[in-house]
Amino acid sequence: MSNIEQTLSIIKPDAVERNLDNEIKEVFKNKGFSIVKEKKIQIEKSEAERFYKVHETKPFYNDLCAYLSSGPIVVMILQKENAVLGNRELMGATNPVEAEEGTIRKKYGISIDKNSVHGSDSIDNAKIEIDFFFKD
Ligand code: UDP
Ligand code: MG
Repeated sequence: MSNIEQTLSIIKPDAVERNLDNEIKEVFKNKGFSIVKEKKIQIEKSEAERFYKVHETKPFYNDLCAYLSSGPIVVMILQKENAVLGNRELMGATNPVEAEEGTIRKKYGISIDKNSVHGSDSIDNAKIEIDFFFKD
Protein backbone atom coordinates (compact mmCIF):
# COMPACT_ATOMS: atom_id res chain seq x y z
CA MET A 1 0.00 0.00 0.00
CA SER A 2 1.43 3.33 -0.95
CA ASN A 3 1.70 6.01 1.69
CA ILE A 4 3.06 9.08 -0.01
CA GLU A 5 3.66 11.90 2.47
CA GLN A 6 5.04 15.41 2.38
CA THR A 7 7.30 16.89 5.03
CA LEU A 8 9.03 20.19 5.57
CA SER A 9 12.80 20.36 5.43
CA ILE A 10 14.98 23.39 6.12
CA ILE A 11 18.64 23.66 5.23
CA LYS A 12 19.79 25.87 8.09
CA PRO A 13 22.11 28.91 7.94
CA ASP A 14 25.27 27.02 8.87
CA ALA A 15 24.91 24.77 5.82
CA VAL A 16 23.79 27.45 3.36
CA GLU A 17 26.70 29.61 4.52
CA ARG A 18 29.10 26.79 3.64
CA ASN A 19 27.42 26.43 0.21
CA LEU A 20 26.23 22.93 1.10
CA ASP A 21 22.61 23.44 0.00
CA ASN A 22 22.98 21.82 -3.42
CA GLU A 23 24.95 18.91 -2.00
CA ILE A 24 22.32 18.32 0.71
CA LYS A 25 19.52 18.53 -1.88
CA GLU A 26 21.32 15.78 -3.82
CA VAL A 27 21.38 13.63 -0.66
CA PHE A 28 17.59 13.91 -0.44
CA LYS A 29 17.10 13.17 -4.13
CA ASN A 30 19.47 10.19 -4.02
CA LYS A 31 17.37 8.78 -1.17
CA GLY A 32 14.26 9.02 -3.32
CA PHE A 33 12.74 12.26 -2.07
CA SER A 34 11.18 14.61 -4.60
CA ILE A 35 11.60 18.30 -3.88
CA VAL A 36 8.07 19.49 -4.61
CA LYS A 37 8.68 23.15 -3.77
CA GLU A 38 11.70 25.04 -2.54
CA LYS A 39 12.81 28.58 -1.87
CA LYS A 40 15.86 30.30 -0.46
CA ILE A 41 14.83 33.00 1.98
CA GLN A 42 15.94 34.83 5.10
CA ILE A 43 13.34 35.15 7.84
CA GLU A 44 12.85 37.72 10.58
CA LYS A 45 13.55 36.70 14.16
CA SER A 46 9.84 37.16 14.92
CA GLU A 47 9.00 34.57 12.24
CA ALA A 48 11.55 32.15 13.68
CA GLU A 49 9.90 32.64 17.08
CA ARG A 50 6.54 31.71 15.57
CA PHE A 51 8.01 28.71 13.76
CA TYR A 52 9.70 27.36 16.89
CA LYS A 53 6.91 28.38 19.32
CA VAL A 54 6.73 24.79 20.62
CA HIS A 55 10.18 25.42 22.14
CA GLU A 56 9.40 28.79 23.72
CA THR A 57 9.97 27.62 27.29
CA LYS A 58 13.32 25.98 26.49
CA PRO A 59 16.57 27.64 27.57
CA PHE A 60 17.89 27.51 23.99
CA TYR A 61 14.81 29.19 22.43
CA ASN A 62 16.20 32.70 22.06
CA ASP A 63 19.51 31.58 20.58
CA LEU A 64 17.72 29.11 18.30
CA CYS A 65 15.47 31.83 16.86
CA ALA A 66 18.34 34.28 16.51
CA TYR A 67 20.30 31.59 14.69
CA LEU A 68 17.55 30.49 12.27
CA SER A 69 17.06 34.12 11.25
CA SER A 70 20.79 34.90 11.04
CA GLY A 71 21.25 34.10 7.35
CA PRO A 72 19.69 32.54 4.27
CA ILE A 73 17.93 29.18 4.60
CA VAL A 74 16.48 26.81 2.01
CA VAL A 75 12.96 25.59 2.82
CA MET A 76 11.62 22.60 0.91
CA ILE A 77 8.61 20.37 0.68
CA LEU A 78 9.95 16.82 0.40
CA GLN A 79 7.74 14.03 -0.87
CA LYS A 80 8.19 10.28 -0.67
CA GLU A 81 6.66 7.15 0.78
CA ASN A 82 6.68 7.67 4.59
CA ALA A 83 8.51 10.96 4.07
CA VAL A 84 8.16 12.27 7.63
CA LEU A 85 9.92 9.39 9.36
CA GLY A 86 12.26 8.79 6.43
CA ASN A 87 13.47 12.37 6.59
CA ARG A 88 13.99 12.20 10.36
CA GLU A 89 16.07 9.05 9.86
CA LEU A 90 18.13 10.58 7.08
CA MET A 91 18.74 13.73 9.18
CA GLY A 92 20.03 11.82 12.20
CA ALA A 93 20.03 12.76 15.87
CA THR A 94 19.66 16.41 16.93
CA ASN A 95 23.23 16.42 18.25
CA PRO A 96 25.60 15.60 15.36
CA VAL A 97 27.98 13.75 17.69
CA GLU A 98 25.15 11.32 18.45
CA ALA A 99 24.01 11.00 14.82
CA GLU A 100 24.64 7.76 12.98
CA GLU A 101 27.01 7.32 10.04
CA GLY A 102 25.35 8.13 6.76
CA THR A 103 23.05 10.81 8.22
CA ILE A 104 23.08 14.43 7.15
CA ARG A 105 23.77 15.75 10.63
CA LYS A 106 26.67 13.32 11.10
CA LYS A 107 28.25 14.42 7.85
CA TYR A 108 27.51 18.15 7.86
CA GLY A 109 26.43 19.20 11.37
CA ILE A 110 28.81 21.34 13.40
CA SER A 111 27.11 21.30 16.82
CA ILE A 112 23.73 20.73 18.46
CA ASP A 113 22.61 24.21 17.46
CA LYS A 114 24.33 24.34 14.06
CA ASN A 115 23.04 20.97 12.94
CA SER A 116 22.46 21.86 9.28
CA VAL A 117 18.86 20.70 8.79
CA HIS A 118 15.37 20.85 10.26
CA GLY A 119 12.69 18.27 9.56
CA SER A 120 9.06 17.97 10.66
CA ASP A 121 8.65 15.43 13.47
CA SER A 122 5.09 14.24 12.76
CA ILE A 123 2.52 14.21 9.99
CA ASP A 124 0.46 16.87 11.77
CA ASN A 125 3.47 19.14 12.25
CA ALA A 126 4.51 18.58 8.64
CA LYS A 127 1.17 20.03 7.49
CA ILE A 128 1.49 22.98 9.87
CA GLU A 129 5.10 23.67 8.85
CA ILE A 130 4.41 23.34 5.11
CA ASP A 131 1.56 25.86 5.49
CA PHE A 132 3.84 28.13 7.50
CA PHE A 133 6.25 28.56 4.60
CA PHE A 134 4.23 27.79 1.49
CA LYS A 135 0.65 28.92 2.07
CA ASP A 136 -0.06 31.93 -0.11
N1 UDP B 1 18.64 22.86 19.94
C1 UDP B 1 19.66 23.51 20.60
N2 UDP B 1 20.03 23.07 21.85
C2 UDP B 1 19.45 21.99 22.44
C3 UDP B 1 18.43 21.33 21.76
C4 UDP B 1 18.03 21.79 20.52
O1 UDP B 1 20.21 24.48 20.09
O2 UDP B 1 19.86 21.63 23.56
C5 UDP B 1 18.23 23.33 18.64
C6 UDP B 1 18.71 22.41 17.52
O3 UDP B 1 19.16 23.23 16.45
C7 UDP B 1 17.48 21.66 17.13
C8 UDP B 1 16.37 22.68 17.40
O4 UDP B 1 16.82 23.37 18.56
O5 UDP B 1 17.53 21.24 15.78
C9 UDP B 1 15.01 22.10 17.68
O6 UDP B 1 15.12 21.14 18.73
P1 UDP B 1 14.43 19.73 18.61
O7 UDP B 1 14.54 19.08 19.95
O8 UDP B 1 13.06 19.89 18.03
O9 UDP B 1 15.40 18.93 17.61
P2 UDP B 1 15.17 18.44 16.12
O10 UDP B 1 13.70 18.12 15.95
O11 UDP B 1 15.62 19.55 15.22
O12 UDP B 1 16.04 17.22 15.98
MG1 MG C 1 12.02 19.23 16.40
